[in-house]
Amino acid sequence: MLNLDAKIPSGPIELKWQKHKFEMKLVNPANKRKFNIIVVGTGLAGASAAATLAELGYNVDAFCFHDSPRRAHSIAAQGGINAAKNYPNDGDSIFRLFYDTIKGGDFRAREANVYRLAEVSNAVIDQCVAQGVPFAREYGGYLDNRSFGGAQVSRTFYARGQTGQQLLLGAYQSLMRQASAGQVKLHPRTEMLDVVIVNGQARGIVTRNLVTGSIETWAAHAVVLATGGYSNVFYLSTNAKTCNVTAAFRAYKRGAGFANPCYTQIHPTCIPQTGEHQSKLTLMSESLRNDGRVWVPKQKGDKRPPAQIPENERDYYLERKYPSFGNLAPRDIASRSAKEVCDQNLGIGPNGNGVYLDFADALNRVGAKVIGERYGNLFEMYERITADDPYKTPMRIFPAPHYTMGGLWVDYNLMSTIPGLHVIGEANFSDHGANRLGASALMQGLADGYFILPYTIGHYLASAQLSDVDTSHSEFAAALADVQARNAKLLRLKGKRSVDSIHRELGQLMWHNVGMSRNAAGLLQTLQRIPELREEFWQNAIVLPASGEEFNQELEKAGRVADFLEFAELLTRDALERRESCGGHFRNEYQQEDGEAKRDDKNYAHVAVWEHKGDDKTPERNIEQLKYENVALVTRSYK
Ligand SMILES: Cc1cc2nc3c(=O)[nH]c(=O)nc-3n(C[C@H](O)[C@H](O)[C@H](O)COP(=O)(O)OP(=O)(O)OC[C@H]3O[C@@H](n4cnc5c(N)ncnc54)[C@H](O)[C@@H]3O)c2cc1C
Repeated sequence: MLNLDAKIPSGPIELKWQKHKFEMKLVNPANKRKFNIIVVGTGLAGASAAATLAELGYNVDAFCFHDSPRRAHSIAAQGGINAAKNYPNDGDSIFRLFYDTIKGGDFRAREANVYRLAEVSNAVIDQCVAQGVPFAREYGGYLDNRSFGGAQVSRTFYARGQTGQQLLLGAYQSLMRQASAGQVKLHPRTEMLDVVIVNGQARGIVTRNLVTGSIETWAAHAVVLATGGYSNVFYLSTNAKTCNVTAAFRAYKRGAGFANPCYTQIHPTCIPQTGEHQSKLTLMSESLRNDGRVWVPKQKGDKRPPAQIPENERDYYLERKYPSFGNLAPRDIASRSAKEVCDQNLGIGPNGNGVYLDFADALNRVGAKVIGERYGNLFEMYERITADDPYKTPMRIFPAPHYTMGGLWVDYNLMSTIPGLHVIGEANFSDHGANRLGASALMQGLADGYFILPYTIGHYLASAQLSDVDTSHSEFAAALADVQARNAKLLRLKGKRSVDSIHRELGQLMWHNVGMSRNAAGLLQTLQRIPELREEFWQNAIVLPASGEEFNQELEKAGRVADFLEFAELLTRDALERRESCGGHFRNEYQQEDGEAKRDDKNYAHVAVWEHKGDDKTPERNIEQLKYENVALVTRSYK
């Protein structure tokens, strides 16, 4: 049984974080240099945390498997980052951002965490501006804002369609400042393969140097995982090919609870899949829905080019179904609606797996120059991939796996169920509930890294009993031996199927049965099929070339797929046990008469936290009950 004390401070929601900051213990500035902290991952969450911790005076070791920290997947984020600045004077406030985020997550997130996120969001923007992030500005000099799905105010700050890249460059330069000062030691091209636990506390990690193959151990006083999300369990997703679940899954196996693995997000505006052998899908930013109108022909099998389909023969289905939010309906709703029309054979494009995102009205209204300023690089990217020019013809879009709201369980201090193991950014579960509103992930990753973890990890270091431990401790040798044995087992795979083909098969199974909508029969079938596929992997996969003593991407891939093959079962089990629909988790059996998600607050207003019980045992489902004191649990409506 896991101890799921969320350690939420008492008192009114507006004061909880202030109170907690005052009550937490501090590490004396002169003592900070005595502590070593390992940060795994240098995306927005990891880079901002590593830089800030080093600025505070801690010694930081930062690891990532890329050749440079700034190649983390965060670089792909396009649309923007939310904050409650209320610059446009359109009625925004910290409470409204809090409310929209809780509602967007279908009332399955912790109130206190979400309020804190909204509260620090403004400081995140100030920090990034101070670092020189080139946010878009209005004529008067204020930072510009746009809207994103699930909100009726404009609170999304952006740097054209490159927001993630610009934010990451800001965090990266802070990180490099500290690397050059010697306060951060960077370890690129290094993959973490295990966590080392000593006396019940996380005290280090095991890594493989991806260039030389050398497997090493590293000791510290605390470990931070900022290792991103697991959408690639679906094989095709908008994530970079290397995004994976390994770090989080290894921590789970060492005792960290895994929360809500079934909460995955399918993004509505991706370029549709064209063939069998793609390795990833491309996202078109949600910001496009500010000006683009989504529609399909009213008539089944209408193959006319879009320009020849008259207005009265088009169904602008989001505007029809959700008049208040229209094309800015949240992602889960927009994705399911697209699936619905395609399931009715109204989909467009050669495979019928698309809907139009049309800019004709906006182009007539504000002109190509303004549209180009807003979305120019996205239009260009779309044209390069599809050879269609969105200035002239509507984009074709379809939903694709994109973001994962599940992750390692953390308390209010961002600490997992393993003392000393902190988890931030997309790798944790904490702030988005069952669905993430757009532009909130960047906000959360940076809030965690710049403004929350630096306080809470200090409290841990100041209050925990930490004995002197280094890599000569027997637990390090044991974890090292485990990693070596696992790698040797992978290198012995000499079957007939490529690792990729098994991953693709797993992905298809997950997409069809555990994707945009799920039902008990499909989930049970998947639970039966995954162990067979795992068997196929261990009996019939092939890993070439043979040596682990050198650069070997097949070995890297095989290790990650082996973990996906186990993790997929946990995800499916979680989806089966959550007998309700909420946010991105849609069970066909639980829907309203009009097809909207039907939540069961009485039985499921909780976080499901899975506990590893051994490789051949069923994991245990623990729960953290969610309490709502500041918002009423209402049926989510965007009509
Ligand atoms: C195409 C796209 C567009 C998006 N657009 C937006 C947007 O406009 N607004 C928004 O809010 N969100 C957006 N998101 C979501 C957002 O970008 C991510 O959720 C966020 O960037 C995740 O940041 P992170 O720091 O948690 O993880 P990441 O940026 O994924 O970083 C993970 C890091 O962990 C390292 N790592 C992982 N495993 C290991 C290991 N085992 N060993 C060593 N290192 C490891 C990697 O090297 C990397 O450095 C978008 C996502 C995608 C896919």
